[in-house]
Amino acid sequence: MPSPLPKVFFFRPTFRLSAQMQHRLCENGQFHPDLHQTMSILRSAFIALSHHQPLRHFSERSALGRRLSSRFVAGMEIEDALRAAQSLQNQGTSSTLDSLGENVGTPDQARRSADIYHRLLDAVAGRKINATISVKLTQIGMDLSRDLAAEIVSGLVDHAVAVDNFVRIDMEGSPYTQATIDLTRTLHAKPENRGHVGVVVQAYLYRSAEDIAALTAEGIRIRLCKGAYQEPPALAFPQKSDVDANYVRLAEKLLTSGIYHGIATHDPNMIDAAKRFAREKFIDKSSFEFQMLYGIRRDLQRSLVAEGYNVRIYTPFGSEWYPYFMRRLAERPANVLFLARNLLKR
Ligand SMILES: Cc1cc2nc3c(=O)[nH]c(=O)nc-3n(C[C@H](O)[C@H](O)[C@H](O)COP(=O)(O)OP(=O)(O)OC[C@H]3O[C@@H](n4cnc5c(N)ncnc54)[C@H](O)[C@@H]3O)c2cc1C
Repeated sequence: MPSPLPKVFFFRPTFRLSAQMQHRLCENGQFHPDLHQTMSILRSAFIALSHHQPLRHFSERSALGRRLSSRFVAGMEIEDALRAAQSLQNQGTSSTLDSLGENVGTPDQARRSADIYHRLLDAVAGRKINATISVKLTQIGMDLSRDLAAEIVSGLVDHAVAVDNFVRIDMEGSPYTQATIDLTRTLHAKPENRGHVGVVVQAYLYRSAEDIAALTAEGIRIRLCKGAYQEPPALAFPQKSDVDANYVRLAEKLLTSGIYHGIATHDPNMIDAAKRFAREKFIDKSSFEFQMLYGIRRDLQRSLVAEGYNVRIYTPFGSEWYPYFMRRLAERPANVLFLARNLLKR
């Protein structure tokens, strides 16, 4: 396994512009160089802070840090995640629970991560909550040994089968793409696992159309996202417009595959395109779902539910929230103002 790319973002940075900032766009719709530079500086600052260990140490233990992070992170404990999942369910959405953490350094840590997921699967079954789990292979030892990760994820899928649940294997940077797809296919090939394990495909990768063809031929459920890692132009579309166009093309393939897939995005254009296509092709709303991140575009989450679409919320929790939280700020630095306003209101 090659060493992972430096993890600069978990999610690609996106920004919503204030009216004043929009005014500063050039006529051709491109960022004014000054604004572009300001955004880049802010983004880099948050990314640099996401690696700052003393600040991380302090924040993860401070009451203020926990309060701020609560916008994007459901809490520190399993019980918090379950409460969030129950509350989301009361609002008409399902969830997928992510115990925060990635790139563990020892087999013990990998097994401890898995243990949290085993406890989640039991609790979700016991309380009849509509929630699945999302797992990163590097969180269960992929950097240490592929066999270790395979053994652990296989145990999680066995457990999911036993309690009639589902394991989604998140997609990480391109050094892991092939291994993640191979492992998913191997797991799904066991007849008893069919429909209990699925994977993520990233629209920014050139290879994704082929991956979707291979995965759907085997009946594997896919979450389609744009992609969150920094990838070289040799592997991924560098332009956002090309990623978006590919996203729409791939979503159409998924929607006509006859398999229940997840359309994961907060982008209203992607969502409208999927809705329009489904309507034109008489694809029932119940045969796919939209997926979004906890705390992001809650207005859109609610309106999709009101329109009768299935919506699943990716719900992270755990004490290792700091890097995830900083990446949310890097995606949209305006979130800092939003959080500050909310803090003052309380
Ligand atoms: C459920 C789910 C699971 C995911 N799993 C993976 C995975 O396994 N692997 C992977 O590589 N990526 C994953 N991603 C991340 C994904 O690849 C994108 O990086 C992320 O969703 C942002 O892209 P977007 O589709 O929302 O569109 P963008 O074009 O980035 O954003 C569209 C709009 O969404 C809103 N928005 C986006 N981010 C924020 C934010 N932080 N704060 C406030 N508003 C925001 C803004 O209004 C923005 O204009 C996942 C995303 C979701 C929703």
